[in-house]
Amino acid sequence: MEETIICHGCGARIQTTDPDIVGYAPESALKRSEILCKRCFRLKHYNELMDVSMSDDDYLKMIHQIHQKTGLIVHVVDLFDLNGSLLPSLKRIAGDNPVLIVANKIDLLPKSTNQRKLKQWIRSTVKELGIHVKDVCLLSASKEIGFEELKKKMETYRKNDDVYVIGTTNVGKSTLINQLMKQTTGDKDVITTSYFPGTTIGFIEIPLDGKHVLVDTPGIVNRQQITHYLSREDLKQITPKKEVKPRIYQITEGQTLFFGGLARIDIIKGEQVSLVCYLSNDIPIHRTKTKNADDLYKRHNGNLLSPPDTRSQNILPEWKEHTFKITEENVDVVFAGLGWICIPDGYVTIRTHYPDTLSESIRRSII
Ligand code: GDP
Repeated sequence: MEETIICHGCGARIQTTDPDIVGYAPESALKRSEILCKRCFRLKHYNELMDVSMSDDDYLKMIHQIHQKTGLIVHVVDLFDLNGSLLPSLKRIAGDNPVLIVANKIDLLPKSTNQRKLKQWIRSTVKELGIHVKDVCLLSASKEIGFEELKKKMETYRKNDDVYVIGTTNVGKSTLINQLMKQTTGDKDVITTSYFPGTTIGFIEIPLDGKHVLVDTPGIVNRQQITHYLSREDLKQITPKKEVKPRIYQITEGQTLFFGGLARIDIIKGEQVSLVCYLSNDIPIHRTKTKNADDLYKRHNGNLLSPPDTRSQNILPEWKEHTFKITEENVDVVFAGLGWICIPDGYVTIRTHYPDTLSESIRRSII
């Protein structure tokens, strides 16, 4: 039987095959007397947390583990991909524990965004999952905005208990925790070795005070996220890096907008409406007549209509179509992972085209 080696830091079972998954260590690390996974090694020697993800099995174990503990659950979500980053299993994970939602990447939304309304919107969306959240913090982990409020709220709601930070991969969880560590512990050695005995799921504990810890949990992979279907270059292009400038198009029945070659909206019934597009400023938008759209796509996907580049084209699922009859004002059409299109006037019927397995949906306008 193969020997099981356990990481001295987080207790994860050491594996040497997948650097992105919990417990990874290079072969050379196995010769050391104290064996640490790469994540714990980096934390210990560079005071820097890196994100790893976990397998589906470990995910179920994690739900079970946290469910049995008491403490504050901090769920980090990505404001630019709320659909993809809000955990449907939040209720199961949290149990009776209080939940604080931290909505990250506020720096990407227009400065004019009404933050009070945005918080309210998030609160009611989470309520639809059956969860009453204690509070919502808006944050930018990378631009260091909102940390005072976050720290204050964490102290209030954790009520002298531990804090569990959970989230899907890529929401900025490690950027956030690195920032918190920098602000609270300075250069001190932050890793604790008292891992959760008997777990193999790689929780890392970071001391909050003498008695309590902030627990970093591995990122949860959402296979419906667009990140899994794009080349590195395309991913860079579609990920907004700074405040998104809404781009407005007047469009009417029989017209189509292409968002690169990744998504498309046709107006199939209705008067002229404005489409306010919230996407990375680097995604080109192209308007055409619907009757010419299929042909244009066939000829120009990957060049005039790009991204996707050739590598992404090979992994992206085929488009599927969806028809939405919009019967109110101020609706967003969300292309999960890419961004959203607000239709302030409402009252049109549209057809969306988006890769199968990725989700498109409509919601009350977020901004
Ligand atoms: P994790 O997988 O949840 O740990 O996410 P990371 O901390 O590795 O961040 C994922 C990506 O989001 C990286 O490219 C970060 O630079 C970026 N990111 C993290 N926080 C922010 C933020 O507040 N604003 C913006 N615009 N990007 C962020």
